[in-house]
Amino acid sequence: MIGLISATAAGAAARDRLAAAWPDRTRVYDGPAGDAVRRAFAECGQLVCFLATGAVVRLVAPLLGDKTSDPGVVCVDEGGRYAVSLVGGHGGGANELAREVGSVLGAEPVVTTATDAVGIAGLDTLGLPVEGDVAAVSRALLDGEPVALRAEVAWPLPPLPVAEDGPYAIRVTDRSVEPAAREVVLRPPTLVVGVGASKGAPVAEVLDVIEGALRDAELSVASVAELATVDAKAEEPGIVEAAARLGVPLVTYGAEELARVEVPNPSDAPLAAVGTPSVAEAAALVGGGELLVPKRKSAGRPAMATCAVVRRPGRGRLAVVGLGPGARDLLTPRAKAELERASVLVGLDQYVGQIRDLLRPGTRILESGLGAEEKRARTAVAEARKGQAVALIGSGDAGVYAMASPALAEASDDIDVVGVPGVTAALAAGAILGAPLGHDHVSISLSDLHTPWEVIERRVRAAAEADIVVTFYNPRSRGRDWQLPKALGILAEHREPTTPVGVVRNASRADESSRLTTLGALDPATVDMMTVVTVGNTATREIAGRMVTPRGYRWQASQEGAQ
Ligand code: SAH
Repeated sequence: MIGLISATAAGAAARDRLAAAWPDRTRVYDGPAGDAVRRAFAECGQLVCFLATGAVVRLVAPLLGDKTSDPGVVCVDEGGRYAVSLVGGHGGGANELAREVGSVLGAEPVVTTATDAVGIAGLDTLGLPVEGDVAAVSRALLDGEPVALRAEVAWPLPPLPVAEDGPYAIRVTDRSVEPAAREVVLRPPTLVVGVGASKGAPVAEVLDVIEGALRDAELSVASVAELATVDAKAEEPGIVEAAARLGVPLVTYGAEELARVEVPNPSDAPLAAVGTPSVAEAAALVGGGELLVPKRKSAGRPAMATCAVVRRPGRGRLAVVGLGPGARDLLTPRAKAELERASVLVGLDQYVGQIRDLLRPGTRILESGLGAEEKRARTAVAEARKGQAVALIGSGDAGVYAMASPALAEASDDIDVVGVPGVTAALAAGAILGAPLGHDHVSISLSDLHTPWEVIERRVRAAAEADIVVTFYNPRSRGRDWQLPKALGILAEHREPTTPVGVVRNASRADESSRLTTLGALDPATVDMMTVVTVGNTATREIAGRMVTPRGYRWQASQEGAQ
């Protein structure tokens, strides 16, 4: 919940606008400002104060505790010009809140956290437990001092400007090492602890066997991702409570599935009790990985709990990101976030140029020229399989005549894949032309480099016969000049020469141009590879200089009736 506090009429007006925009997220705190701030601070995850920063500093100062748990506080000035992230920029989410408040109120967000300002991900915002001297290492990153990255386990970190070696270090490990001076230790969630327990096993005994196993193997409890057991034990109080106290989820598997997992120490007791010769080892090993601690029993007489520890291979992350047709404001916020999130960027050189300024320092860029699609796809997948966070980019939508299919054809299920849709050339062109795609439409690529011409021709003919609006991609290049006239000829067998045709070149780019012509009048020589050509159906009309395809025949009938 976001607590809203104001003191004056102007402040109250802005407060009410925010409350109206976010009715479910906000609560207004009335009364004297000091008292309102204290109540909101105790009750809310975040505060927006429509007060001077000085006043808010004095009010919250005595309330501040720890930056990991304090609410984030944003101040908006009386004039509503600035939304200042005052405290809790990262942990309290105040930086992000300042941006959101700014966009609702038309105020400028003011964010002074150093790592945000220079585009470096904060070490405490990576979503991983972090230990050691975060402040010193962050300062070193900002000052450009050499910071070494020592990754003992693979994990898809965002980009960080790290060096081969240096006096500072970021260590990525699940082992229970103490951070050295000038070092931070990041704890990726790589460990799965399989547990078994007899009915009524006390939580202390379950925790004891887990903690003992981790301690003896010199593994960090902060890297435990989950506890795993058999379905039959999903409600066993000692196991459920142990997971809760460790702050990790409990996942369970069917006995049959566990029985299929090969384990070093099967036994008869669990086979009789729950139907699998192994619970702890099998549940830990279901998803693959390296068995670091084979089954061990708790110290009780009789022992009521068992556990085993497995290190899962780090899963890389492949984001397939559509950049939109060209204009920066047609690149989605989600695409931007993925570009900032990736430590490896793979793409065609001209597309990399389009977004280079959005990349964070330390991003490794693997660009290549036209025609290297297969290689780019393989590179992106190979990097992700090494455990990296990879973004594979394409113009428009990356799934439309672009990189998503060659990449996913290569990818195995050992990486996570995230797709970010983009505005396609056909959609961008449609918006420029008017409303040509108002009824059924298809895109057809006229490039016969990868597709035999007979196949393309068959599809053009089908669209012609079915009276579907057609957008031609890759319509014409220097070496491929007869395909477009041929395709238009096929459409002309079924549509009048007066059928509207829209030609859009470089949609949303600096040298955008478009024109509306007809099937009879289009000169193919004016079309090139930067262009899409949209041919209307028999109902498409030019209305006030715009290309309009009616949504249905009823509309058309009423138009004709009116004539
Ligand atoms: N993935 C892209 C298509 C890539 S195929 C998308 O979703 O739009 C390349 C073809 O797309 C070009 O030959 C051209 O026909 C078309 N194209 C891409 N961007 C364009 C733009 N901004 N304006 C017009 N056509 C464009």
